[in-house]
Amino acid sequence: MQGRERSEYRPDIVVRVFKMKLSQLLDDFIKRKVFGCVTSYIYVIEFQKRGLPHCHILLTLDSSSKIKFVSAELPNINVNRRLFEIVTKCMVHGPCGIINPNAPCMKDGECSKQFPKAFRQETEENVNDYPVYKIWCIEPVRVGKHYIDNHWIIPYNPWLSKKYNAHINVEVCASVKSVKYLYYVCKGHDAASITLKMMTVLIMMRF
Ligand SMILES: [Zn+2]
Repeated sequence: MQGRERSEYRPDIVVRVFKMKLSQLLDDFIKRKVFGCVTSYIYVIEFQKRGLPHCHILLTLDSSSKIKFVSAELPNINVNRRLFEIVTKCMVHGPCGIINPNAPCMKDGECSKQFPKAFRQETEENVNDYPVYKIWCIEPVRVGKHYIDNHWIIPYNPWLSKKYNAHINVEVCASVKSVKYLYYVCKGHDAASITLKMMTVLIMMRF
């Protein structure tokens, strides 16, 4: 888009498309049960710079739902070119660190989002209540001006990424931390007294 047709000049269109995609996404979770049976959910819509909306969603799944749907790796371009293009466009963190020490995620000389992620041969289910995802070492691929590898991939769900062609970060959390996080986003309540253990999925969507 050029000139006044850029997204920041058309908030009227942006918010309508966002609302349509959000409604569809919630239907996928709640009615179509793409992640399993949702027992409760909460979401917060925020507007940041240039008025572009994004949404944080917290799903609580019933105990029979198995969380095996998050990937933190680049898809194989020869197997799934479309997913590869979406992930390299929407789900790459940075650059930050030595390459870009002034990136907004940098705090006290380190990335506040803990990138680059470490390589791991297998997903570990529960490290400080979050899984640490399997991340294999691969040959770096060129994305824009930089070469990236699996160190820099933001966790995503392949099916959602392909359907919505958008930044949709999916994280699994097995504790109240995710609830506290969302209440922090809501800016107000303190959920620290909640002691219930549960399996939750935290989703951040931005178009
Ligand atoms: Zn960073």
